[in-house]
Amino acid sequence: MTAPAVGAAPAPVWRDLVGQERAVEVLSAAVRAAAAATGTGAGAAPSPAGMTHAWLFTGPPGSGRSNAARAFAAALQCARGGCGECASCHTTLGGTHADVHVVNTRKLSIGVDDARALVARGGRHPSGGRWQVMVVEDADRLTDPAANALLKAIEEPTPRTVWLLCAPSLEDTLPTIRSRCRHVSLRTPATAAVADVLVQRDGIDPAMATFAARAAQGHVGRAKRLATDEDARLHRHAVLRLPLSLGNLSGALQAAGDLVEAATAEATEATAELDLREVEDLRRALGVGQGSRQPPGAAAALKELATDQRRRSTRSKRDAIDRALVDLASFYRDVLAVQSDAGVELVNDELRDAVTSVARGASAESTLRRIDAILAARNAIDANVAPLLAVEAMTVRLRDG
Ligand SMILES: [Zn+2]
Repeated sequence: MTAPAVGAAPAPVWRDLVGQERAVEVLSAAVRAAAAATGTGAGAAPSPAGMTHAWLFTGPPGSGRSNAARAFAAALQCARGGCGECASCHTTLGGTHADVHVVNTRKLSIGVDDARALVARGGRHPSGGRWQVMVVEDADRLTDPAANALLKAIEEPTPRTVWLLCAPSLEDTLPTIRSRCRHVSLRTPATAAVADVLVQRDGIDPAMATFAARAAQGHVGRAKRLATDEDARLHRHAVLRLPLSLGNLSGALQAAGDLVEAATAEATEATAELDLREVEDLRRALGVGQGSRQPPGAAAALKELATDQRRRSTRSKRDAIDRALVDLASFYRDVLAVQSDAGVELVNDELRDAVTSVARGASAESTLRRIDAILAARNAIDANVAPLLAVEAMTVRLRDG
């Protein structure tokens, strides 16, 4: 079997990449080049024409960076260039392919020890697959020493190793890393494209799909969540009521506390079950709690897991707060649209009355200052300022206008 020819419809494995036709074209061409090169003889090093050993996927949150990297990995491993049906495709997409290693860190950073382990792993020959594929989902979380540890492996990889790094933007990676990678940029997909995939793929009602796609502003995963999870919709709605509850200073501080508390609760709900399951799995693997004494090393392993879980919890709380702030910014973006009579579609069309009332009570300049206050809070939290403090400073500025 050969990979599809130039000009053919995209292979099924790219199906879930919404609105990324250009990236799919580039990656499909690389898959064809890789297949042509590996077909020249067992053990031959593939020619790099169209195919490269190091790739950097960038794009805004939700545009599908890691989906693109996984689909690319599957297409490389698949004898049919990404049929979406064979064992190679299934195991790669499901995260169990022996020659596809995905670093899906939930820590706040990837340290030098982790990077060295990756380099060692990336130096191996594929055990059964065509390639050894190393996917680093959050390359922006590599510390500088970790990035430096990866450099040589990325520059001179083992002939059958491919590195796929993902980051929000080029600026989020070290220049030395990005200069060694081929860059694939993903865009924010159009609302209509996101709505369409929710209807076609997930069977969601068209009206709900349109609302969710609009509210999620191009974030495909978030759109699906909003369309299928009423709690997520209620959380979002509560955040968007905030601009109307900033009457006095204590009201503003109260609103900040509510926002942080709600986001924290949402994040905790999302990870609590996973935390518990991981502890149970590890205890079982270590043989803890099966009668006799605790095996040596068990306490240390459990302690390490607890530390990882704490880090992940911190990160998912910050992510949830950031999502709330993005929603809030979309409200003031709508206010600005009404004030400037821009005639564009409102992100929060269902709140048109509230948007209009805030728009009437303020100038466009003060709306811009408010959007700026939200951005400042996001940046502060990103720079490790305590979230409540940053959000309080923000609500006070939102109230002052
Ligand atoms: Zn396949």
